[in-house]
Amino acid sequence: MPGTKQIGLNPGFLVVNQVSLMRPVRLIVLGVALLLGAVAAAPCSVKAEQEGVRARAGSDYTTYTTPRFTLYIGSDSKPSEPINADEVAEQSLKILNTTYEELSRIFRTQPKRKVVLRFLSPTEFRRQTGAPEWTSAMYFRDEITIPLTKANAWERDELHRALRHEYVHAVIAELSDYRCPAWLDEGVAQLLEGQINPLLGPALRRWVGLNPAIPLEWLQNGFTTLESAYVPAAYAQSLFATRKLIQQHGFQSVTNYLADLRKGVVERKAFERSFYRPKAQFERELTREMRRWAASREVNP
Ligand SMILES: [Zn+2]
Repeated sequence: MPGTKQIGLNPGFLVVNQVSLMRPVRLIVLGVALLLGAVAAAPCSVKAEQEGVRARAGSDYTTYTTPRFTLYIGSDSKPSEPINADEVAEQSLKILNTTYEELSRIFRTQPKRKVVLRFLSPTEFRRQTGAPEWTSAMYFRDEITIPLTKANAWERDELHRALRHEYVHAVIAELSDYRCPAWLDEGVAQLLEGQINPLLGPALRRWVGLNPAIPLEWLQNGFTTLESAYVPAAYAQSLFATRKLIQQHGFQSVTNYLADLRKGVVERKAFERSFYRPKAQFERELTREMRRWAASREVNP
């Protein structure tokens, strides 16, 4: 990205379908992420969370406040086809709290930062985020924003996947102080979001049939500056590379790496300390490993 420090997640737009896969976008965050306040790490039951404060903030949003999450459900999310905001909130909080517990176990740490979840009408979503049509969710500065339609209000699987993916970005942003390279950030998010996007495998096979691994340097700050032809392979390689590191060194190595980044350890040094070889060597291995994978019957990167 153009000469700016990569902080902020790296807003991750969730890759959901072919259109989004072809043209994901990432933004750069120019400021320190908005800290919304640390919360007690004590786990709360889903019931307690559901009973969190529900308030009406002006006429624009219905607000739900819990110790870990604040939800805003835009009133204009439900003009023609009424959406039950309480149900959406309840469902979302269940997913987020379950994901919180799961990520706490996986990362062996309890995220403390409060995350905002905003449901906006698709029109408001585009207007406020500037996100193109094909994006289905985004994370930016401790806020997850999702365009709410009747379809995704009731499509639990899609909501589940979007929330998990974006919340992984939120946790990685906290643990790394917004310094995680985009490829690892997207790799972990894709690994943990649920089912692997079926388009990634073919995209990576096509790529490695003709090219070496995409230099990780290109995937450091975000995917928007890549030519669109690289983008599906960029997501796929991110997943492949992340999975490879976790298979070889365990998830703890990722947590260690993020902790080093948070402490300000130079990225290459943090990589070498956590994954036991220079990054350049890992990149050479990647080309070899991805080609080996492409010749196998494995479906997913
Ligand atoms: Zn993402």
